[in-house]
Amino acid sequence: MTKLIFLGAPGAGKGTQAQILAETLGIPHISTGEILRGAIADETPLGLKAKSYVDNGDLVPDDLILDLIKQRLGEEDAQKGWILDGFPRNVSQADFLTNLLQQLNQNCDGVINFDVPDQVLIDRLLGRGRKDDNQETISNRLVVYRQKTAPLIEYYQQHNLLKNVNGDRELSQISQELETIVKS
Ligand code: AMP
Repeated sequence: MTKLIFLGAPGAGKGTQAQILAETLGIPHISTGEILRGAIADETPLGLKAKSYVDNGDLVPDDLILDLIKQRLGEEDAQKGWILDGFPRNVSQADFLTNLLQQLNQNCDGVINFDVPDQVLIDRLLGRGRKDDNQETISNRLVVYRQKTAPLIEYYQQHNLLKNVNGDRELSQISQELETIVKS
């Protein structure tokens, strides 16, 4: 498996695991959150439009994200594989991706859902210290996750792509399980 989507609540550890696995497999780790934080730091037109949403823990409007993903998945290094981390974030982004992959003649091989209890998520986020990791923004991000992103678990289950992974374990145990999954 070389074309993977990582799903999970904020703090579920999908970014860390995506980075490790992408390096192991030699494929790009595509994090929309990271792309947005870079754009905000550089004060690009995208960054200026996205800043208030990211600061509040709300989803950035789809039109800012969809073009960006389309372009990124069309790049040379994305032809042999990718790990998407933080995209899709709602059903309309997932539908867009399904169509885009058809157009690009690519297939998603699997969707990994990181399962982590809420209290563990909150403790991890509070310990992380990112600008959007304050108490108020964290609780909004969890509400947004439940309302907009969690329905994708069912979405990908129906597409027969979903694999649940217990994300409340040692980092190395999770990495090992992921390697086993992608090599099977
Ligand atoms: P993340 O690093 O994935 O936790 O994303 C940080 C923030 O970036 C989120 O709280 C959203 O404001 C924004 N963001 C990242 N990915 C998306 C996306 N696919 N759609 C909309 N907003 C996003």
